[in-house]
Amino acid sequence: MSVNNKVAIVTGAASGIGKRIAEVYAANGATVAIADMNLDGANATAKELGGKAIGVKMDVTNEQEVEDGVARVVRDLGQVDILVSNAGIQIVNPIVSFAYADWKKLMSIHVDGAFLTTRACLKNMYARGKGGSIIYMGSVHSKEASKLKAPYVTAKHGLIGLAKVVAKEGAEHGVRANVICPGFVRTPLVEKQIPEQAKELGISEDDVIKKVMLKDTVDGEFTTVDDVAACALFFAGFESNALTGQSIVVSHGWFMQ
Ligand code: NAD
Repeated sequence: MSVNNKVAIVTGAASGIGKRIAEVYAANGATVAIADMNLDGANATAKELGGKAIGVKMDVTNEQEVEDGVARVVRDLGQVDILVSNAGIQIVNPIVSFAYADWKKLMSIHVDGAFLTTRACLKNMYARGKGGSIIYMGSVHSKEASKLKAPYVTAKHGLIGLAKVVAKEGAEHGVRANVICPGFVRTPLVEKQIPEQAKELGISEDDVIKKVMLKDTVDGEFTTVDDVAACALFFAGFESNALTGQSIVVSHGWFMQ
């Protein structure tokens, strides 16, 4: 069970969780395409990984960029074995004042992006006939709701449905699909939310951390990028259809299933 000599595409890997997954895959012998709309960031991450990575400009909501990006990976790296559909954003607001444009933007990155990258990678995986592993970055919000996060919770629940369909359609081709559901991880995505939620809820930033984000964990701790990357390594390296259509929650016990 290993990612050695495999080729992985990790979307949103210029920063945060995706970046750490790319680093861990490369350290375990994979070659990684750092696919991000932020090309400078993608190239910088790829450079840090030396010969084990390339930067690819990919806005996951742009059908042509996704198709071209995956085609380039196949051309330059020879194959695609693993997709980590990870790119994401957060926008917080109560439903009554949620702009429709913000709803559509968030849904598009998380749901359309997952669909487009999955479709492009599946075509290559099926044609090559060597199977593959597709991993979606869900969230505890794939299982639980929080105030102010209507499109995020909706999108993250939706990814579990997509993973189950991919698991069923991909099985005969040896393609597995699973979801990682992290608790709060201190990446730029979360750092941005702390002052926003403090303002919206009328509480201090410290209280947002202790009384909102971590209040239901077993130990008051943030999940780390290393915790999430360890799950991504496990899913990617698993070699049979025994583990497919599943979701794993890594959240310090915030959500127990
Ligand atoms: P981050 O902001 O550190 O990184 C997100 C990356 O996605 C950035 O590099 C950004 O450029 C890229 N991106 C954004 N829109 C894109 C698009 N349209 N196309 C391509 N790339 C795009 O965030 P993160 O915390 O590392 O989040 C990564 C994933 O993990 C997201 O799906 C997020 O919902 C999920 N997640 C995060 C947490 C957390 O607490 N940080 C918890 C659960 C799930």
